Amino acid sequence: MALSEFTLINQYFNTQFDVNWPAGLGIGDDCALLNIPNNMQLAVSVDTLVEGVHFLSNSNPLLLGHKALAVSLSDLAAMGAKPAWVTLAITLPNSDGAWLSSFSKGFLSLAKQYSMQLIGGDTTRGGLAISVTVMGLLPKGQSLKRSGAKVGDDIYVSGTIGNAGLGLIKAQKGIDDMSDDDLAQYLQPMPKINLGEQILSRATACIDISDGLSADLNHILTASGVGAVIEHNKLPMTETVKGYIAKHRRQLWPYSSGDDYQLCFTLPREKRSDEDMLRWQQSGVISRIGVIDVAEGLRIAMPDGSAVTHNQGYQHFNEAVSNSMSVELTDNNGE
Ligand code: ADP
Ligand code: MG
Repeated sequence: MALSEFTLINQYFNTQFDVNWPAGLGIGDDCALLNIPNNMQLAVSVDTLVEGVHFLSNSNPLLLGHKALAVSLSDLAAMGAKPAWVTLAITLPNSDGAWLSSFSKGFLSLAKQYSMQLIGGDTTRGGLAISVTVMGLLPKGQSLKRSGAKVGDDIYVSGTIGNAGLGLIKAQKGIDDMSDDDLAQYLQPMPKINLGEQILSRATACIDISDGLSADLNHILTASGVGAVIEHNKLPMTETVKGYIAKHRRQLWPYSSGDDYQLCFTLPREKRSDEDMLRWQQSGVISRIGVIDVAEGLRIAMPDGSAVTHNQGYQHFNEAVSNSMSVELTDNNGE
């Protein structure tokens, strides 16, 4: 039976659990009311996921609920903010109770994991689209912007690169085995909230990798007015990604495959000896991949001694670059 809008909201989204910063007023009125602690500033970001553009049709609703929140939380991570509140605007083709139950479970269990509160939203009928606004808190005067990278800073990335891109290819082939790490990385990314908070007082610039390392690092370079050199053999890749690029002779593919939701950040050279940074490097949480350079643009130093310039990733209104939903169909990743 089709559910009414308000039954749906109450049944699936108006649930209570312990949160870090309880709103003055949550779901149910015309606005939510938020009290920002005196010594804090609010970090706000919105992301929309559209069926067929950001996720495949007939995606598993549990994983979609998780991912819809995870990609927005990734922006809070990239700013160094602590998650506090979230709103959810959802457009649905119909009010399917089983779908909503799974979707809300995926969404709310991630919210619960970060003790953040769903404070409101909007529910409408139409083609499936999900828009999530996250709000986080930062100490006043502190943040991880894109604009602070300095010549000589080291460039780091978290985790490994290219797995989500490979996961998308596997999903498009119909593989749905969640024990496959690449597929799990694509369908169920984990935002790097803890890392963001840890580097808040250390990094000079930071961004999360959603459109591809090359495109996103280029945002840091442009905002900071600098260039960069990456050493290709320092790029952290799993054997699956190494195997894919060797087989398909696409060495530069991981620089433009999107959806990794890792962090890319810059640290002053003297932070190389910082104990936490060393420990995280040893355990593979982060890897140092290159250095900020005075010459504009991004250069990748290849093991054979050649250098390639690279600036591609996913852009919604640019037909010329690779579309993250059609990775298999195009072969134009700048190689
Ligand atoms: P309004 O007509 O004032 O926009 P709505 O009828 O859209 O209010 O929503 C009623 C209440 O339910 C509001 O507090 C709104 O924030 C909340 N809400 C609506 N949809 C959602 C949703 N998908 N998730 C969480 N809260 C929602
Ligand atoms: Mg409304």
